[in-house]
Amino acid sequence: MARPLDEYHAVPGVGDGRPSIADVHRSCDVLLGAGWQRLEIAAQVTESGESLPILAYFNSMSTDHVLIGGIHGREPAGAVALSRYAERLAELGRSRSILLLPLLNPWGYSRHVRYGPSGQSVSDSDHLLGRSEAPACPEAAAITAFVLDAARVNPGAAVLDLHEDPVYEEPGYRLEGDGSYLYVTGEGAREHPVARRVHRCLEASAFPLVMEGVTRFGERLVDGFILDTEDGSIDELLARRCRCSPVITTEIVLRGETRPPLAERVAAYRGVLDAFFGS
Ligand SMILES: [Zn+2]
Repeated sequence: MARPLDEYHAVPGVGDGRPSIADVHRSCDVLLGAGWQRLEIAAQVTESGESLPILAYFNSMSTDHVLIGGIHGREPAGAVALSRYAERLAELGRSRSILLLPLLNPWGYSRHVRYGPSGQSVSDSDHLLGRSEAPACPEAAAITAFVLDAARVNPGAAVLDLHEDPVYEEPGYRLEGDGSYLYVTGEGAREHPVARRVHRCLEASAFPLVMEGVTRFGERLVDGFILDTEDGSIDELLARRCRCSPVITTEIVLRGETRPPLAERVAAYRGVLDAFFGS
């Protein structure tokens, strides 16, 4: 009789086509053959006692490019796109220092839940931005410590954090238009060539920018952008504490779990990655 798959190897039961956590990591593991290192930053433990690792991949001890996916479990396109971009990253990494954090909340990804097991954002950074005494959860403590102390993110490093906005969570909320929008943070970030390329790419993508409106978190969109938000995210931490710029957080508006289909969102994010690197 076949043994039931453990959670790490099982395809999450969401039905949107997202691969297993193991598949995401296996795709990223091609980087190891190109001389990159892999490190377990932390792990999330399931009800059955299984440990789901949170992994970092990097090709240098100090980095000028940071790629982040999978902070929120209902937003799988970033993690999937990053993992499928790994072969290209191996090439790009020959002339660039890159830190890849492909799936920061595997527990939430597997369950299709926004936050981690403690009900908090896994990369909440308020404890390092002077707004709270203690880390919001163990993952937040480990991930922020890794980024500040171990990874050595250089001032001026460019950051891309791939999110999605599942607006279907709030049926009473109305956003003018479908498509995408982005947060841009950091000194001179909005006019930075990398931010301009990503902006242009999204505008021409299958999910054109929503130019004006208010997000369900009360932030006002201007020209498809939200500038210099103070949301306690790891992106704010990277902008303020590591002086990264531009720090770009992209959002694709989701009207349902498969609206638009995951494959189309992943394709759009592969284009955003090309734009980010100018390749
Ligand atoms: Zn998100």
